[in-house]
Amino acid sequence: MCEIVSIHFDATILSSPIEYLKGMGPLRADLLKKELSVFTYKDLLDHFPLRHIDKTRVDPIRVATSANDYVQTAGVLVQLQVLGEGRSKRLIGTLRDDTGELDLIWFQAIHWIQKNLETGQSYLVFGKMGQFNGRAQISHPEIELYSREKAGGRSTLEPIYPSTEKLKAKSLGGRQLAKFTGQLLQALQPADLPENLPEKLVATFGFPSRFEAYRQIHFPANEAAWRQAVERLKFEELFLAQLRLSLIRLERHRYSKGVVFGQVGNLFHEFYEQHLPFALTGAQKRVLKEIRADMGQGRQMNRLLQGDVGSGKTMVALLTMLLAADNGFQSLLMAPTEILAAQHYSGISELVKKMPLKIALLTGSTRAAERKMILAGLADGSIHWVIGTHALLEDKVVFYQLGLAIVDEQHRFGVAQRARLWKKAVVPPHILVMTATPIPRTLAMTAYGDLDYSIIDELPPGRQPISTVHRYEHARASVMDFVRAEIAKGRQAYFIFPLIEESDKLDLENLMRGYENIKAFFPEPRFWISVVHGRQAADVKETNMQRFVQNDTHIMVATTVIEVGVNVPNASVMVIESAEKFGLSQLHQLRGRVGRGAEKSFCILLTGMQVNNDARERLKTMCATNDGFLIAEKDLELRGPGDIEGTRQSGELNFRLADLVSDRQLLEQAKRMAGALVESDPELRDPAHTALRAFLQSQKGKLAWSKIS
Ligand code: ADP
Ligand code: MG
Repeated sequence: MCEIVSIHFDATILSSPIEYLKGMGPLRADLLKKELSVFTYKDLLDHFPLRHIDKTRVDPIRVATSANDYVQTAGVLVQLQVLGEGRSKRLIGTLRDDTGELDLIWFQAIHWIQKNLETGQSYLVFGKMGQFNGRAQISHPEIELYSREKAGGRSTLEPIYPSTEKLKAKSLGGRQLAKFTGQLLQALQPADLPENLPEKLVATFGFPSRFEAYRQIHFPANEAAWRQAVERLKFEELFLAQLRLSLIRLERHRYSKGVVFGQVGNLFHEFYEQHLPFALTGAQKRVLKEIRADMGQGRQMNRLLQGDVGSGKTMVALLTMLLAADNGFQSLLMAPTEILAAQHYSGISELVKKMPLKIALLTGSTRAAERKMILAGLADGSIHWVIGTHALLEDKVVFYQLGLAIVDEQHRFGVAQRARLWKKAVVPPHILVMTATPIPRTLAMTAYGDLDYSIIDELPPGRQPISTVHRYEHARASVMDFVRAEIAKGRQAYFIFPLIEESDKLDLENLMRGYENIKAFFPEPRFWISVVHGRQAADVKETNMQRFVQNDTHIMVATTVIEVGVNVPNASVMVIESAEKFGLSQLHQLRGRVGRGAEKSFCILLTGMQVNNDARERLKTMCATNDGFLIAEKDLELRGPGDIEGTRQSGELNFRLADLVSDRQLLEQAKRMAGALVESDPELRDPAHTALRAFLQSQKGKLAWSKIS
């Protein structure tokens, strides 16, 4: 299996340790490693400039003095004198050309500078233009003799690099880094940074070569050249990431065996014709078709199903489980909280109660005797479906023949946990991951690029949009009046408190204080209140929850434990306390608990007077739209991709140059092109792709892509 690849990446000079760079020395090299993680020559090349200074132009003095920015100009030094005493002592020089005059001023190192300058000589000067007493001046300019060779200024822009105080103290500030980088680039040949993108692609975009791009991102001839270099290197990053994901996905499609759910049988038909309580939406039907296509092909399904809150993902899950049962396979449905698992269990049991299916609920608080029976039933196949929390992942949970695993609200489950599901059957079960946390398309593409992807983009008919308003604390009494009026109409209300404090204990105190306060407005026995929080015993939580579900209590006071999934269609008001403390997607999730029935629903965001700008932006967005995808985009914009839930562990999001928000278009292009390439040449056997393949092989293990399941 010997493969001859004629291109070598990073093999020679670029992998040299940074201490080998001429003039660097071991001490400074150590500091570079510690402070900037620069270990090799290549790392230094990947340490990109923050910005550039333009010294390519030399302006006449009259032009320079009318600017109020950094300028470069030249002239004859016609005068040089020391003025003032003590602290106001300063050195002033006057520079003159045919067009005008300019003062240069120094407050420090006066003696040394005076000694090195000479009136009557021509000088090249660079610095920030300022004004003093009506005269143009530059203080502490960079100054050097103006020779004929320098007449046109520098040939490239000068890079300024990010550095640290410690580095600066050891003569490794932005300037010195520029010197080292320049020196390194001088020593490199184009073959040291060989092209890794297919030539055709480079030509299509009119990109500079990889070597040229590296030179130009550090020392560009002008701004346009810098822009092109950045564009090329960003594209390279995004394209390679997308290519890796496409290859992983392809590999899975080709080689993963999956159980075949070939037939739509009696159970599915009976349910569909006799028990389905409503007509499916177009989107539900389409997604179901996509899922059936996946599962009928003999390869393992790994599908992400995205649908806004209330879009009806549970029904899709249920129908998929019926397909599994029709084909003789067991299913599991895993939810992030006990409350949600219990609710799924009772909802689904109710829907299929007339059918010959045995369903179990398994969570951390299932009693030992019952657990034993359930484990036995799963092992011998007498239980068809099991619904539960991550207790289902434990090794003790063994199946007779597991064919399908559905994970609800995925962002609470880590990637590693997902992988544990695969081991529950000889042939890995089909996996359907459902989430209502809308992930912006760009992120989904990157974080879950190896999964297949379905989306429910349509709400069931008859839903009214939820009205959302922002109210300040001092309007609390009128908010309470409003809630009272809704309750009088027979509806129910949620009051949600944030989980923010360092300790559970403080959060609980905060919640209980809020509860007492609400109780003062809604006294027993006219009003009844359920309280649900994370520190309750499971059975207490369950009782409180059930009372609210059955409309025995009017109000539910809760922490964010009810964030996902809970379904009480009669609840029409959601009051979110200290709303400024919640993230945007969390607010959207919470709001999704209302608006689930036919009645008009309301969401009230309560805050104190102190609301910072970001929080204000979040509240404004919530009041303006109900569209989860718009909200997700806004969230991404406000927080940046690193903070978006569920993507934190993804190494693929750590780009050096590219930014998933501002470089969306480039990402789309990269994705499209990577997909097309993998489709046309999945093995990268085409000679045009040799370099690409060699590059990917050289990078194996260096990047975090194996972290993505
Ligand atoms: P989510 O996608 O947030 O999990 P659910 O599955 O909980 O949404 O569905 C929300 C509500 O919409 C439930 O009460 C469910 O019964 C109802 N529902 C789902 N699909 C439809 C449909 N096609 N027509 C009418 N109601 C539906
Ligand atoms: Mg749900």
